[in-house]
Amino acid sequence: MRTTVSIVTLGCKTNQFESAAMGEQLQSAGYQQVDFEAGADLVIVNTCTVTAATDSQSRNLIRRARRFNPQSRVVVTGCYAQIDPQSLSQLPGVTLVIGNQEKSCLLELLSSDNETTTIQVGDIRNSRTIEPLSLTGFNQRSRAFVQIQNGCDAFCSYCIIPYARGRSRSVTVAAIVDQLEKLSANGYPEIVLTGIHIGNYGHDLIPQIDLLYLLQQIEQSNFTGRLRLGSIEPTELPPTLYQYIAAANWICPHFHIPLQAGDDDILQRMNRHYTTTFFGDLVKQIHHLSPDAAIGLDVITGFPGETDHQFEKTCQLLESLPFSHLHVFPFSKRSGTPAATMPDQLSGTIIKQRAAHLRKIGELKLHHFGQQFIGSELDIVIEGGENGGLRKGLSANYLSVAVPTKSVKSGQLVRVTIAGIHRDGLIGELI
Ligand code: SF4
Repeated sequence: MRTTVSIVTLGCKTNQFESAAMGEQLQSAGYQQVDFEAGADLVIVNTCTVTAATDSQSRNLIRRARRFNPQSRVVVTGCYAQIDPQSLSQLPGVTLVIGNQEKSCLLELLSSDNETTTIQVGDIRNSRTIEPLSLTGFNQRSRAFVQIQNGCDAFCSYCIIPYARGRSRSVTVAAIVDQLEKLSANGYPEIVLTGIHIGNYGHDLIPQIDLLYLLQQIEQSNFTGRLRLGSIEPTELPPTLYQYIAAANWICPHFHIPLQAGDDDILQRMNRHYTTTFFGDLVKQIHHLSPDAAIGLDVITGFPGETDHQFEKTCQLLESLPFSHLHVFPFSKRSGTPAATMPDQLSGTIIKQRAAHLRKIGELKLHHFGQQFIGSELDIVIEGGENGGLRKGLSANYLSVAVPTKSVKSGQLVRVTIAGIHRDGLIGELI
């Protein structure tokens, strides 16, 4: 009988991509991949440490793995494992803790795994190259992800990621194009380019290149289908890049740009090198050029010392900007970052209230954006299972559209007419 394995993943698309690649390595070595609840012989928990909440979720997953099968061997990896392997190695059932860069040699490490807990976490901060993980499919997902870059050199004062993922390292153009061609040939209608800091793409390669150059090379390749870009820092989105994206009908009209705060003093203390005026102008210019494009913003609330007035400025800035999606992050103190020891830390209650207020602004913006498409035709990629006779799909401009199930399958690209608003998204009729 084949050894069973399940992989559970928390966090960003980079982690999801890496889990899919580890799954492919294991399957090619003869493991049978099963659901988490099935109580596999081997459980890989790919953790995230971006907030205290994801740390706690990671620990819960490790404990649950042993509840489904008390004999399971549990292997822990990901950003939490990179930052605090000792603590995770103490949890029951954990036999191996590996860092982010050790994911590429998982099979080799498993073969030496034994009853005593082993920690294999290298010094990722000194790593200057990236070992691209290869992938031909993406579990049963309808969209696939391709990792183009890893790590970050920015050291925003609240962020633990540069410590967990190391310096910015880029995958070569040839390896990215190869992955994209394989995935599109395997039937994925949409592929998302992911990384930790993709606006920095290519700056470490010799000769130095950039994200625009990569997109131009992909355009000339045999890649078919539509491409979506992950988040790009505002300072790394020059007119040449957003104009190119806006004009390319094979790239989703979707710009994800982290704002983080609507106050210049807070931005400075966050170690983010732009002003609210610069940010506002950028969003308005992109919206002017591409009015149907989704513009998603990230915002953090409850940064140490954030006054009522500064919070109000963030709300006012957001209300004035033409964006469609808002991702709200309550500030979470990450030990080892400068923000963790800043004075005037806010209470959890205030942070929660502010986050709820910002989410309301985001909901109104999304509602307003979605409404404009009633009566229009959109191409959506079907994802997720059936719910109440409907299945959901995602449009190129990142709108969630529910459609009657009838003949649609997961991963299918279909054209719909938008009939109206449906819960937190839209409802469409198949054409
Ligand atoms: S840009 Fe800032 S927030 Fe984003 S990963 Fe890098 S350090 Fe973290």
